Formats: sequence, C-alpha cells, structure tokens
Amino acid sequence: MTRVFVGIGSNVGDRQAHIERARQGLAGLAQTQVVRISDVYETEPVGPVPQGPFLNAVAEVTTGLDPFDLLDGLASIEQEAGRTPVERRQKWGPRTLDLDILLFGDRVLSSDELVVPHPMMHERWFVLKPLCDLDAGVVHPVLEMTVGELLAHVENGRHIGKAGHDG
Ligand code: AMP
Repeated sequence: MTRVFVGIGSNVGDRQAHIERARQGLAGLAQTQVVRISDVYETEPVGPVPQGPFLNAVAEVTTGLDPFDLLDGLASIEQEAGRTPVERRQKWGPRTLDLDILLFGDRVLSSDELVVPHPMMHERWFVLKPLCDLDAGVVHPVLEMTVGELLAHVENGRHIGKAGHDG
C-alpha cells in the first residue's frame, strides 16, 4: 500500500458537495482507503481566466493501485461529478471537480499522462496549506524539502479563508 495525497478543487456549482463526492469517490476506488481529509479553504483562482473562487482540500489515501490506475480512477470521479469535456480542454478554466495526484509515496514519475510529484504543487498555497494540515513533515522527493518548508516559501496572498460547512 502506498501513502498518497490527492488535491481536490472545485469552483462551479455546489462546491462543498463536490468535495464530499470526491471523498466518497476516493473511498469507493478499488484497493483504496481514505485516511483523512484536510480542512477546506476558499482561494482565489490562479491564471488568466476570470472565474469564481475555489474550495480546495487535500485527501490522504492509502492505495494498492499503481499511479496510472489511480489517475484513471480520479478521472472517473471527476466525470461522475459532472466535469465536462469542454472544462477539461480549458487549461486554466473553471472546474466542477479537479483531482490531482500530488504525491505518490516517494515515487517520481514523468510521462505525457502523469507527472508526480505534481509539477506545480510546491508553488501553490492552496495545495501546501491543506497538505501541511495533514502532515507538514512529508518530504517532497525531488526538492528534498518538507511540505512545511515549502509552505514557508509561498505567498499567502490568494487565500480568502477557511470555508465553513456551508461552503
Ligand atoms: P487538469 O484536470 O487540468 O488538472 O489536467 C488533468 C490532466 O493532467 C490529466 O489528463 C492528466 O493526464 C494530467 N496530469 C499530469 N500529471 C498529473 C497529476 N500528478 N495528477 C493529475 N493529473 C495529472
């Protein structure tokens, strides 16, 4: 079993419900258990496309799946939550539900389909903050720094607040 951290984001529709669907979808994957979900944070969108704020969280899971099978599982959870092909093509666009593999144990992978650790995770407050809530001592296997150290280097400016249960 491998310890994996999955980034969860939503900025379309009932965002809190989409995060809950992500949790249920992850728990429903073969050979996979959800250990914990972080607090949920509301954050400003990144990139050039005007759109509403995101809710972001991170899930800690253990899985016996290989990284590519897990990625397929994440894509089906996104689709079931209503993510459309149009959304998928727009790089910086709105997301009904976006699931990313942040860390897959200490594996380092780089293919057209999958890059692990996630190539932008170390720059993103909305990833690092909830990840640190779960375990600030996790080591990024390429940068060889803890996620707590990475968070200390990231600007806090885009953070809006911790979301309540109403989202
Ligand atoms: P997006 O939904 O915009 O985050 O992009 C999803 C695409 O990014 C997928 O089709 C994956 O093939 C690719 N991808 C590359 N690395 C990762 C990763 N670590 N986690 C999730 N998707 C990834």
